[in-house]
Amino acid sequence: MKFTWRRQALRPKYRFQTAQGGIDEKETIVVSLEHDGVVGLGEGVASRLYGQSLESTETALAGMRDMLGDDPFAIEPILARVIPRHDAQRAAIAALDSALHDWVGKRLNVPVWRLLGLSAPRVQTVFTIGIADADETRRKVDEALADGYSALKVKVGVDGDLRTLEYIRKQFNGPLLLDANEAWTVEDALRRVPDLAAFRPTMVEQPLRKDDWRNFGRIRDLGVAPIFADESCERPADVIKLNGLVDGVNVKFTKCGGLREALKMLTLARGLGLRAMLGCFVSSSLAIAPGVAIGGLFDFADLDGALLLGENDTFAGIRAERGGVLSLAGGPGLGVRLR
Ligand SMILES: [Mg+2]
Repeated sequence: MKFTWRRQALRPKYRFQTAQGGIDEKETIVVSLEHDGVVGLGEGVASRLYGQSLESTETALAGMRDMLGDDPFAIEPILARVIPRHDAQRAAIAALDSALHDWVGKRLNVPVWRLLGLSAPRVQTVFTIGIADADETRRKVDEALADGYSALKVKVGVDGDLRTLEYIRKQFNGPLLLDANEAWTVEDALRRVPDLAAFRPTMVEQPLRKDDWRNFGRIRDLGVAPIFADESCERPADVIKLNGLVDGVNVKFTKCGGLREALKMLTLARGLGLRAMLGCFVSSSLAIAPGVAIGGLFDFADLDGALLLGENDTFAGIRAERGGVLSLAGGPGLGVRLR
């Protein structure tokens, strides 16, 4: 197996801002796994929230090289070797997991969703309105509504969030998902979350700091909306830890390590009666395609990470219909190709 990678620069159409900061430009890592004349691709999207950087991802990828063996069909055994050694670098593991699935699909000439026993995906994604000044926020809301998005996600936990929500609710009656990105202490959240009730949120995501997950139940008891954990829920074991404290979990490949681990988290969530959302980071379509493949299994999909790039997306292969319905353009594997 020939295993290589390179960095790619991505430029979002709008500066993307959350309660934790903003990005104008972002680099991700494109991984390529070549064997038997077939090339499988994956994208590693490192997040400093989880102790990942471009450098740490590349170091982990270099460390995986000798662990891959000579049979890319053996995805589970490969991951069973790699995960314990590179446990902290799940973005790198996700890139490998994607490249392996893409390779197997291409080698067998079937799409990845078919390999996984699913039907052709049509996934409704929410559209995320990042934090911006009042004028830009209104412009983004207007544009999302003009594009027919039927569900919006709004970042809260910053000054002016209630004005943004008022502006949206004046013209939009659909599902509104609110994400606080760890903005509040438990005292702040107990004071602030009740103010959100007037906007009829479909859910409130991660109102507390990552390590403050034991207090999620207190926010849930407010009865304002279903409470979802994102930053506090990285891996399969976290789903078990959060049982009884939240209503749902947000699963992301960068946190958990790709399709296989994401499906384990989903199975655990379902077994515990929790809802599940599949999320993403700003990335090219290469990192989103595996999410589209399995997105239909989740209650909510937040897979707009490549839509935020607009025409600056470096990979093609995801079709976005009006209103944010995503499907895969077709072809074996993940069905994505360099633009
Ligand atoms: Mg979130």
